[in-house]
This record gives sequence, C-alpha cells and structure tokens, in this order.
Amino acid sequence: MLERTLVMIKPDGVQRNLIGKVISIFEENGLKVVALKKTKLSKEQAKAFYIVHKERPFYEDLTTYMSSGPIVAMVLEGENAIQRVREIMGATDPKEAKEGTIRRLFAIDKEKNTVHGSDSPESAKKEIPFFFSEQELLDVA
Ligand code: UDP
Ligand code: MG
Repeated sequence: MLERTLVMIKPDGVQRNLIGKVISIFEENGLKVVALKKTKLSKEQAKAFYIVHKERPFYEDLTTYMSSGPIVAMVLEGENAIQRVREIMGATDPKEAKEGTIRRLFAIDKEKNTVHGSDSPESAKKEIPFFFSEQELLDVA
C-alpha cells in the first residue's frame, strides 16, 4: 500500500551535519520526499508531539532534548513507507539496532537517536498535520 509517514531528524542529527546523509539513505531506499522543513520545537510542542509517552520516565528528558535545537521534519512516501522507514531507522537503542540502519550508524544513545519515524498509520495521520498543511504535501511528479 502506498503510504506517507512523518520523519524527523532530531537535534543531534542536525547539530552533527547529518541532514543530507540521513535523507540520502531514505532516498536510496526509494522513499520520496513529499514535504520538508527545518524548524525548532518549543518545550510545549515537544510535549504535545510525544503526548503518548507522557507517563513514561523518559518523557521529561526527551521533550527537553527535542526542544534543545533545530530539527528537520519531512513526509516520506512509498510502498509500506511506515514499516520500511522503521526498518531503515533501526531499533530505538542504537546498541540493539541492526548493522546499516541509521540509528546504528549515527545515534549517540537511546535518547539522542538521530531520527523519528511514525510507528503506525494512526500515528502518521496525527503526526503529518502536526508539521504540514495539506498544501505543503506535494506529490513527486
Ligand atoms: N526514549 C528514551 N528512552 C527510552 C525510550 C525512548 O529517551 O528508554 C526516547 C527516544 O528518543 C525515542 C523516543 O523517546 O526515540 C520515543 O520512544 P519510542 O519508544 O516511541 O521509540 P521510537 O519509536 O522512536 O523508536
Ligand atoms: Mg515511537
């Protein structure tokens, strides 16, 4: 199924000049960029984005970290894009991520793990409009 998913390059990725490398990996895997922006989340925005984790012990640190510097948000499109992006990113903890995945290649630790990708169609449906209006989602050709 042709799907769209929301990806972020987290502050550690932007800070270490990895924007191009991360996008290249997705493009080389056949995913298309349908929307793209660099922005910075406020603490409140980070808390809203990660609201599903509000009871988790890492919520406070995570939302402070996610609002600590610029991020890049994008919408990627492709066949089974949601699951494929999750596979290309690798496990949350880079120590557990498979060889060749973005997190294995670049993540600093379990929190500063370079990328976010929607985990389900329901999440993508909420996360895409968090960053992009309908008019900003442009088909590739
Ligand atoms: N996170 C963390 N500590 C944990 C688990 C998660 O700091 O023990 C952070 C990490 O940045 C992760 C984000 O919270 O990417 C969201 O967690 P989730 O379990 O949804 O992982 P993901 O879907 O990003 O792999
Ligand atoms: Mg998640």
